[in-house]
Amino acid sequence: MPDLEPCVSFLRRLIQTPSLPGQEEDLARLVVAEMQDLGYDEAGVDEVGTVVGTIRGRGDAASVVFNTHLDHVDVGDPSRWPHPPFGGEIHQERVWGRGAVDIKGPLASQVHAAASLLRERPPGDVLVTAVVQEEVGGVGARTLAHRLEPSLMVVGEPSSNQVRRGHRGRTEILVHLIGRSVHASVPASGLNPLISLGRFLARLEEVERVEHPELGRSSVAPTLLRTDQTSGNVVPGEVWLTCDWRNVPGEAPERARESLERLAVEVAEPGVAVEVTIPTQPLVSWTGRTVETSAAHPAYLLAAEHPAVVAASSLAAECGASGDADVWRFATDGSHFYEAGWTPVGFGPGDEGLAHTVDENVEIAALELSLAVNARLGRELARRAEEEA
Ligand SMILES: [Zn+2]
Repeated sequence: MPDLEPCVSFLRRLIQTPSLPGQEEDLARLVVAEMQDLGYDEAGVDEVGTVVGTIRGRGDAASVVFNTHLDHVDVGDPSRWPHPPFGGEIHQERVWGRGAVDIKGPLASQVHAAASLLRERPPGDVLVTAVVQEEVGGVGARTLAHRLEPSLMVVGEPSSNQVRRGHRGRTEILVHLIGRSVHASVPASGLNPLISLGRFLARLEEVERVEHPELGRSSVAPTLLRTDQTSGNVVPGEVWLTCDWRNVPGEAPERARESLERLAVEVAEPGVAVEVTIPTQPLVSWTGRTVETSAAHPAYLLAAEHPAVVAASSLAAECGASGDADVWRFATDGSHFYEAGWTPVGFGPGDEGLAHTVDENVEIAALELSLAVNARLGRELARRAEEEA
């Protein structure tokens, strides 16, 4: 059984080390140093700065790869937090701060749980990976998924210590409307794309969505809006609207793009040009690598009776956690691995409803339970999944 106290202390140091996407160097070095102190056989970073630690197994059983990420979302206005976002303070038997559940709680748990396997050695190799830039497009996961041999994976994202088996995908779709800019005192002589955009937004709810028996319905939300102007007295010539589309398995991102394009073409005023794309952007990792990254993240789902899901759920139940397996509301890097042939099951401490909020905190008791389950998964998931198959 892994010790709780060193894990809590590690989690607090993780929270005290900010690691926005592309700025994960300090945190990566902290995690590598911890792995070395704990006695991992290998610990280092790859070309984009993802941490990979290895614990060699005693035999040649299939390996189990633990996965989380290093980066977190912005904290916003620190004065809105009940406790300092980078304090890692303990109140009410909980650790508070940005990343407590997404992602430093799950990360601390995986690093320390895997280390406890060093005493007896697991039947196969156990790898602990913490990737870069999950929150902005999955640079680390996309790289790692193709560099390592696909295997069983435990995706550590907050799940209240319950096994997860998939989630909807996420695609950003950019709606670009091009009109004609003029002085705002004579709007009729221009072509204001915001008028067409207004019609587009008013009818967005009508766009056809796909119903999935287990993951619910796909959804679309307009999120970011920008024009080509910074002056309030000029009719803009161009407008860009980002739509966040959550697709279900079997619903291709291209299909979603096409349906938004149809709507935009239908509502645009005569003369307004329409471009609807799934953008890619060059993301620079902390090691200086530039990776062209698509805004499309696939959905993924393992069946409830999948051997890895059944095995993980029963191992969790044997440790006193819930034996049910559910799906996540949000998207994770698991989908990039799934797409590359891996078998990702999700499991992590913490309430997923607290992710990306100012109230982020994780119960120390939940961290303790997750340590036990993760250790068990590292030691037995491969063999148990084989038995279930
Ligand atoms: Zn996360």
